[in-house]
Amino acid sequence: MPLLVGPDTPLRRGVSESLRWCCTCGARSQKGGITLVIQWEGSRPCPRFPSRPPFCDLGGVPVRAAPKQFGNPSVSRAGVFRVIQGPEPPPEAFDESHRLRTMIRAVVFDVGECLVDETREYGTWADWLGVPRHSFSAAFGAVIAQGRDYRETFQIFRPGFDLTEEREKRAAAGQAEWFGEEDLYLDVRSSLKELRADGLWVGIAGNQTSRAGGILRTLNLPADMIATSDDWGVAKPDPAFFMHVVREAGCTPAEILYVGDRLDNDIRPAAAIGLRTALIRRGPWGIIQQDDPEGDRVATMRIDSLAELPTRIAAFNAAMR
Ligand SMILES: [Mg+2]
Repeated sequence: MPLLVGPDTPLRRGVSESLRWCCTCGARSQKGGITLVIQWEGSRPCPRFPSRPPFCDLGGVPVRAAPKQFGNPSVSRAGVFRVIQGPEPPPEAFDESHRLRTMIRAVVFDVGECLVDETREYGTWADWLGVPRHSFSAAFGAVIAQGRDYRETFQIFRPGFDLTEEREKRAAAGQAEWFGEEDLYLDVRSSLKELRADGLWVGIAGNQTSRAGGILRTLNLPADMIATSDDWGVAKPDPAFFMHVVREAGCTPAEILYVGDRLDNDIRPAAAIGLRTALIRRGPWGIIQQDDPEGDRVATMRIDSLAELPTRIAAFNAAMR
């Protein structure tokens, strides 16, 4: 599957070179003693300079170095590069004057605890482990509050627990993870529908299995795109996940509002790519992280219900005019 290459995506050539750069605007960094500025052939514009040559959405494709064009005298080199997981782009990759006059045109939603109430999911995991649901939930909250990966909860009850393996076992036993219409938060359908009626592009993209993506598609939600981390081969908080969001929305990052319940997995990494963000206060992370000062500092807006979004976005856009 093609991987997205965007501003400041790090690449690996062989095993020794890891590079960061924006192919179009020239923002670049250096690792391993080598600096390259590469002009990509592709179909998407640089968010910072949309009128300049586009960057490429293919991984492992031939590239040509253009050091003179971009005023970089250090190295001229061409080759085949493979995209690897990358860190956040640097602040210079953003153009604040552009952001300050950019309205929200697309809204992309996280899935768990943003659209889907995961009470059933984790309740059935507790059942699968053979532990009381209340105990599992308490341990889950403690793990989150300590800033640890929620998957460590499983290790508390069963050391060595392999989530991927256990998912397969559950499916084989006819107890696969599942959610349905009744697991959607009550504000989901009406809010997404209203946002689309307002002319906004609506997407759904979360850390989910392909199986969950299939379930989401059967729900016939009012959305222009439904995608999962499994579909893209990269998961939040990896910046590459949000680059996929940018590509699918067909907007610049500042024109996209990403809505999620987690500061660590949704809001911080989306903001680092330049997306606008809405932090919703619900679900375990939403409650436990609600007093983190970054909630106010990093998120573009904070909400208690998706039903607030049409009005909040309209007000935001009105202020940009
Ligand atoms: Mg979530």
